[in-house]
Amino acid sequence: MNAPVPRIEATDGCTTAPVLRERGQREVFCGLTGIVWLHRKIQDAFFLVVGSRTCAHLIQSAAGVMIFAEPRFGTAIIDERDLAGLADIDDELDRVVGRLLDRRPDIRLLFLVGSCPSEVIKLDLGRAAARLSARVAPRVRVLSYSGSGIETTFTQGEDACLAALVPALPAEPAGAADSLLVVGALADVVEDQFARLFAELGIAPVRFLPPRRSGDLPPVGPGTRYLLAQPFLSDTARALEERGATRLDAPFPLGAEGTTLWLEAAARAWSVPADRFEAVTAPGRRRAEVAMARQREKLAGKSVFFFPDSQLEIPLARVLARELGASLVEVGTPYLHRQHLARELALLPAGTMLSEGQDVDRQLDRCRDARPDLVVCGLGLANPLESEGMTTKWSIELLFTPIQGYDQAGDLAELFARPLVRRTRLEV
Ligand code: SF4
Repeated sequence: MNAPVPRIEATDGCTTAPVLRERGQREVFCGLTGIVWLHRKIQDAFFLVVGSRTCAHLIQSAAGVMIFAEPRFGTAIIDERDLAGLADIDDELDRVVGRLLDRRPDIRLLFLVGSCPSEVIKLDLGRAAARLSARVAPRVRVLSYSGSGIETTFTQGEDACLAALVPALPAEPAGAADSLLVVGALADVVEDQFARLFAELGIAPVRFLPPRRSGDLPPVGPGTRYLLAQPFLSDTARALEERGATRLDAPFPLGAEGTTLWLEAAARAWSVPADRFEAVTAPGRRRAEVAMARQREKLAGKSVFFFPDSQLEIPLARVLARELGASLVEVGTPYLHRQHLARELALLPAGTMLSEGQDVDRQLDRCRDARPDLVVCGLGLANPLESEGMTTKWSIELLFTPIQGYDQAGDLAELFARPLVRRTRLEV
């Protein structure tokens, strides 16, 4: 930009803070869960899980039953005959996919999604996807990724899915203008708001990964600058960089502050004048601040404990501490990607207790000792903690709800305030 944009200054925050690393028992969902929001985002894609009845139950109960539309996810069940090597699983998969595509001409992109059982029997879904793609192209593209629960956490399903898409992205034509790629599944309403803001800033062309339709895969190349919209996309980022794209370093677009700094990273790369940046972002920033102020009254001074679950923990903790006045007891995250989270760590209050990975019993002990006002955790821990009198927020809700951007900042704050208000009502 021509002149520096007014910045919200940070100290070093937690940039060099020690991190407690734990490698014990964990309580997390597997990457299949990502299908719940990804199938809504890519509207002509189908996610075929190659897994067990357990996988089918997980995805069915997490995504709910679609009553008015045919579902765009399903499970090809691996049964005892497959596990015993009595059936030719490749033939069976080809039959299932053939039947599916005959019945569903609307499908343009098919993901074969690996699971624990498919990995245990060493089913090569990459090879199966290539074989099937050759058969059904150009009408349908078949790709594969793993949603397995072994050593993963649930948001890694999105990372694996988007990383599988990257090799399929077309190349930027030589001599094309620099483009901005926003990476990470966002609700359509949020995507539309960001597209409008970028247009008003004069930043173009702007594209989104994943796209809403598989025919709109964004091109990528050395002229692509990308902004991560989610903090859990390390494999996708690596794959984009292998195609020549460059990451714009930014915090994540959560809260008024995070959204401003995220937009600012793109504005700087496109040399947007400071006064134009201010004129475009000020109204949204003010709306966000007003909406958050209402929830700040309920959250200021409250202590919050994050169990590691969604990988959104550090950006969320930053919003709670800096914009909502909460105090952070412990911020746990399944994985800490220091590079992608560098700007976030710098914004966290110095002295915040950070932990990576999990040893669930020890972490529960720390939580019980601290008796925080609010615990942000996975579904498996929420009910036991509630029964001990603690107030909890399911971290998975923060993935299913549009929370990014200025106009969702109030909703984001309310998601944390609501359980506190509910607890107060129960106590009356
Ligand atoms: S992929 Fe693994 S962890 Fe996930 S539902 Fe299937 S068996 Fe369970």
